[in-house]
Amino acid sequence: MKAYILDLDGVIYRGSNPIDGAVDAVNRLHDRAKVLFLTNNSTRSRASVAARLEAAGIPCGGGDVITAGYAAAVYIRKRYGASTVYPIGEAGLIEELKAEGHVISEDAEFVVVGLDRDLNYEKLRIGLQNITNGARFIATNTDPVLPTEDCFVPGAGAIVSALETASGESPLVIGKPNQLIMDIVIDHLGIDASQCTVVGDRLDTDILAGIRCGMRTVLVLTGVETLDSLGRSDIEPNIVIRSIKELLVAPEGDDPESR
Ligand SMILES: [Mg+2]
Repeated sequence: MKAYILDLDGVIYRGSNPIDGAVDAVNRLHDRAKVLFLTNNSTRSRASVAARLEAAGIPCGGGDVITAGYAAAVYIRKRYGASTVYPIGEAGLIEELKAEGHVISEDAEFVVVGLDRDLNYEKLRIGLQNITNGARFIATNTDPVLPTEDCFVPGAGAIVSALETASGESPLVIGKPNQLIMDIVIDHLGIDASQCTVVGDRLDTDILAGIRCGMRTVLVLTGVETLDSLGRSDIEPNIVIRSIKELLVAPEGDDPESR
C-alpha cells in the first residue's frame, strides 16, 4: 500500500479557493493510494478541514486529516497526560486541545501558539506571563507566511516570534519539518515511510519533512516557492511540478507513481 501525504494551503487551495485541477488530482490519487492531508495550519479542526474538502468534492473524513494543532494536543497528552493549556490560536486549535482532554486556562502548564487572526496584546501578555511562570512554550508551527488568494499573510511563525522575543525562550515546534508531527503521521498511516510521497509547496517545511523521513517528495509551484527560490535552496525535492493537477499525469519517469 502506498500513501500520499498532501499539504493543503498552496497545494489544494489558496485562501478559500480550490486550486485549479486539485480536486480531480486528489480523486485520481484516491483510486491508487491512501491519501492523508497534513497541514501546519491550526486554525481549523480536523473535522472542519474534512468538511471543507468534502464541500469542494474531495471525499474526506476527520481521520484523513492531521493538523499541527491536533498534533500538538496529541503530543502533550501522550507525553504529559491531560494538562492545562493557554492557547493563542483559533477555534480549530482550541477544539483539538479539548478533544484530547486538555483544559483551557489562563494559568496553565503549557502555552500553545498557532495562527490567530484575532491576536491582540492581551493574549501575548497572558502567554508571556505563563511562560515566565514556568509554562512550557509550544508552537504548532513557525511558518512565516500563509498564501491566500492574491497575497501572503503573516503566519503562525510571526506570532511565535513575538512571544519568543518577549520571553527569551525558544518554543518546542510540533509542525513540519519536525519529527514530532511526522511520527504521528507515520503512526496514523501504518505504512512504511519508503512507500509514502509528500506533496507540498514549501521547501523548508513539507519537502524537508519528507526528506528527513526517507519519503519521496514532490514540490508544487502553486504556493510559496518559485523556480527562483528553488534554485537558491539546498533542499531538493525528488520531483517539481507546476501544480498538483500534473500529479500522476506527468511524463513517464517523472510520475512519482512509476518509480
Ligand atoms: Mg502549504
